[in-house]
Amino acid sequence: KNEGLQAVEDKAGEDSPWLKQFVLAANIGSPTDLPFVEKFQGQGIGLYRTEFLFMGNTLPSEEEQTEAYRQVIAACSPHLTIIRTLDIGGDKQAPALNLPRESNPFLGVRALRLCFERPELLMTQLRAIWRASAAGPAAVMFPMIAAREELRQAKDYLEQARQAVLTNGYPVGSLQVGIMIEIPSAAWIADKLAEEVDFFSIGTNDLTQYTLAVDRENSALASLNQPYHPAVLGLIARVSQAAKARGVWTGICGEAGGDPLLPPFFAALGIDELSMAPGQLPKVRRKLAGLPFAPGEADSLVSRILDCATHDEVKAILQNY
Ligand code: PEP
Ligand code: MG
Repeated sequence: KNEGLQAVEDKAGEDSPWLKQFVLAANIGSPTDLPFVEKFQGQGIGLYRTEFLFMGNTLPSEEEQTEAYRQVIAACSPHLTIIRTLDIGGDKQAPALNLPRESNPFLGVRALRLCFERPELLMTQLRAIWRASAAGPAAVMFPMIAAREELRQAKDYLEQARQAVLTNGYPVGSLQVGIMIEIPSAAWIADKLAEEVDFFSIGTNDLTQYTLAVDRENSALASLNQPYHPAVLGLIARVSQAAKARGVWTGICGEAGGDPLLPPFFAALGIDELSMAPGQLPKVRRKLAGLPFAPGEADSLVSRILDCATHDEVKAILQNY
């Protein structure tokens, strides 16, 4: 098991080998979600969607952001808190930014693309994350990475922000650095990206949308919006294998992370962390505790699933677990 996660997990009383394999973390949008994380025993935060801070009519200051991030990190310590940098655009709006309309917002100036156009936005957030990092185990995660240059540019800003915080006399902790894998191009070059990060977190909502060309918001296409599609699961397998070969840990933070049908596949792949809406945690925990195969017997499940032609065939296999 990867040390970066092991250092901050708490497994007291759990004896299922599959429960031991995973950190089961929560997705949140604000510190007000923390009581649910505690209630459902989330082992830290696998995805803190910081966009919610930016949904008012004014932009949050560095102080306000620092306070929000610090509150979450301190509450979740000794577990890890993964703070995702701004993912505005696509389905997430920030009125104060007054952004121009785009004809294809999911393929447009979203997330890091917007941050690179408006570096002061990103730098303010990164300084706040560094300042909050002194409160406990924390990680920064960059969304919507499609190419290695973007990751390198984001890491340059991260280092500039660290220097700025130190120059201003604030203490900083250490931050794990990870990226979301939610664009097929990133999944394809996962072996190269793994050399530059501590972890991957697979965003299955966007990975499914971009792999299958299905707008995640369009209810007329709901039946096509299938994370069980063998192409999506094949990309996830590719990412996990590339990460493992390089000592990088992998989590799942899209809706599929909390889907009670998928734990057998993720367990068989050796995924390290599942992060989900807090209310999904009991179902996923129960599923993992009762998985019928032992570690080491799982390879055949992965090949059977990746050999399927349709999402219905995949589901039929998973329903047997
Ligand atoms: C995802 O795309 O799967 C994800 C977790 O990010 P979001 O849903 O916030 O786009
Ligand atoms: Mg996403």
